[in-house]
Amino acid sequence: MTTTQATVAEVRSEVRRFLADELAAGSFRPSCDAWIQGHSAEFSRRLGQRGWLGMTWPRRYGGGGRSALERFTVIEELLAAGAPVAAHWIADRQTGPLLLRSGTEQQKQRFLPLIAQGRLFIAAGMSEPDSGSDLASVRTRAVPTATGWRVNGRKVWTSHAHRSHFLLALVRTEARDDDRHAGLSQLLIGLDSPGVTVRTIGAMTGESHFTEVTLDDVDVPAEQVVGRAGDGWRGVVSELAHERSGPERYLSTFPLLTELVSGGATDGETSLADVGSATARLWALRSLSLQVQDLLERGQPTDTAAALVKDLGTRLEGDIIDITRRAAHRRPGRTGGAALSELLGAAQLAAPSFTLRGGTNEILRGLIARGLEA
Ligand SMILES: Cc1cc2nc3c(=O)[nH]c(=O)nc-3n(C[C@H](O)[C@H](O)[C@H](O)COP(=O)(O)OP(=O)(O)OC[C@H]3O[C@@H](n4cnc5c(N)ncnc54)[C@H](O)[C@@H]3O)c2cc1C
Repeated sequence: MTTTQATVAEVRSEVRRFLADELAAGSFRPSCDAWIQGHSAEFSRRLGQRGWLGMTWPRRYGGGGRSALERFTVIEELLAAGAPVAAHWIADRQTGPLLLRSGTEQQKQRFLPLIAQGRLFIAAGMSEPDSGSDLASVRTRAVPTATGWRVNGRKVWTSHAHRSHFLLALVRTEARDDDRHAGLSQLLIGLDSPGVTVRTIGAMTGESHFTEVTLDDVDVPAEQVVGRAGDGWRGVVSELAHERSGPERYLSTFPLLTELVSGGATDGETSLADVGSATARLWALRSLSLQVQDLLERGQPTDTAAALVKDLGTRLEGDIIDITRRAAHRRPGRTGGAALSELLGAAQLAAPSFTLRGGTNEILRGLIARGLEA
């Protein structure tokens, strides 16, 4: 679908008006890393009512039938404003597209409309205590039963499982010594199912978005396997392309940059040069991210480009913190006051996670190197 500049401008103004109204009503305060830490089920529902979740999905599944560019415009405005979008983020960004691609008709009808309304939240259950970078080594196991699968194992670092309805878990359904990527499956597990225990893990930021999910003889109906049993690796790889390539990978600290500039702490030549350089990098990343969204929409491979967005983007997010710190050091008293200090403090505490979540930068550089070799 081609989207005109006029449509994009219209969508952008509509989101900005909405955000201004929400800010005026005091429904949120702009924060860094709000797509992970800013959880508000109410805010997500309001986005759903506006048609800003599941935007590109077909209307028959409750989606908006809009273009990828319109969705991109909405999410970059929400992220730039530091709005609380974490509740629906995983379901809207990656589970919905996965269900559209590999889900059954029944799964699409059951899950997609609720996700698009901002009423169904899904947590990503990939990492385990000894399986992070090497995801194919997951040890959570599911064995067949008369009605589906019985699952035992443990997931960790699962964002917002305590506030979500389902966990999309990567589990081993078959031991395959010949091919470690085979024999894995993705199961949608109801987080209120008997045998599921969710424990929150405190983060340095003071927020508890992380959880550990223990699965103890959890029965999962056969109709909650996503894609073909044994073929879960393919689903995970496709989710990761969505997970690594969006504007959230370079805009987590954007509210800090805005506050720095609007607070007038950038008068000095060096600070201006720093902000100029960060802006140029942002703009280049935005082009790359847009290209990946286009490729994703056309079903083209994007692993290398998505890894590039995340590696370069998360480095920029960290550099924006350094730029702000340097400006604050050079021009004490001109750094925009309490709002900037608060944003800076919170961003510094969140920063170590930027290059870890969604695959570490070391792993991504390995992927990029192999992708460029091929
Ligand atoms: C804020 C945040 C939110 C998260 N949310 C989720 C979530 O919702 N769901 C979920 O499933 N997971 C989540 N994670 C987990 C995240 O995906 C993992 O932390 C990440 O994949 C790294 O795995 P690990 O922590 O086990 O580190 P490890 O894999 O143990 O890696 C440790 C170190 O060794 C390096 N390393 C490992 N292997 C190699 C290699 N082959 N070559 C070079 N270096 C290597 C890594 O780069 C890293 O520096 C989240 C993490 C964070 C920080």
